[in-house]
Amino acid sequence: METESLLVIRMKRLWQRLYVRLYRRGNVLRLRIYQQKWKQRNLAKRRGQYRRAAANQYAKDKHKILGRNAKYHARVRPHRLAYLVEWRKQHVDHARRIQKAWRELHSKQIVAKQRAWYQKNRLHAIAHRDRRRARLKGAEGIYTAADVERLFTSQQGRCFYCGKDLESFHVDHKIPISRGGMNSSENLCCACRWCNLSKSDRLISEWLGYLKAVDEKSYRRVRENIQAMLAVPIKRKILGY
Ligand SMILES: [Zn+2]
Repeated sequence: METESLLVIRMKRLWQRLYVRLYRRGNVLRLRIYQQKWKQRNLAKRRGQYRRAAANQYAKDKHKILGRNAKYHARVRPHRLAYLVEWRKQHVDHARRIQKAWRELHSKQIVAKQRAWYQKNRLHAIAHRDRRRARLKGAEGIYTAADVERLFTSQQGRCFYCGKDLESFHVDHKIPISRGGMNSSENLCCACRWCNLSKSDRLISEWLGYLKAVDEKSYRRVRENIQAMLAVPIKRKILGY
C-alpha cells in the first residue's frame, strides 16, 4: 500500500512538473506579459525593499565601499581624462557650447569663488601682476606678499602719502615702473586708493606739484605726512628729484 501510494505521489509530482514545463513552453508571451504587469504592480514596494537593503549594506560597509570607490576612481581617472581630451578635440564646437552654458548657469558661484580666492590671495596676486609688468617693462626686482605685509606693519597700517588708516590698500611704486623704478620692496609703499590713483604714474615731486596746483588742502596734508613718515626732510631719492 505504502509503496503504491508513494509511487502515485511521485507520478503526480512528475506530471505536475511536466505540465508546468509544457504550459510555460506553450505560453511564453502570455507569461512574459503577466510578469511585466506583476513587476509594475509591485515596483514601488520592490524599490523600497532594494533601497532599504542597499542603505543597510552601505551603513554596514561604509568604509569598505568608499575605499573601493576611491580606488576605482583613482584607477580610471587618467583614462577618463584622456577620453575627455580626445572627445573635446573631436567636438570642439559642442564642447564650447556646453562650457558656455555651464558658465552662464553657474556665473554667480564662479564670481563668488574667484572673489573669495582673490581676497585670500590678494597680495600674492598683486605681487604676481607686478612681477609680470616689471618683466614686460624690463624693470628689475621682485617682491613677495610677505614684503608687503612687513611694509604695512612698518607704516603702522596707514597710507604712506596721506596718513589715512588703511582698511584695504594699493601697493604703490614710489618711483613708477614706467619711469624706471624698481619692482623691489624699497621702492614700494602701501597707499590708499585715492592717493594711488591720484599719483598715477607721476614721481612724488611731480604729484606734489600737481596737487599744489589743483588741491591745496590735499597737497599740504600729503606733504606733511610724507615728512612725518620719513621723520626727516623729504629725501631727494624717494621724491625722485
Ligand atoms: Zn592716501
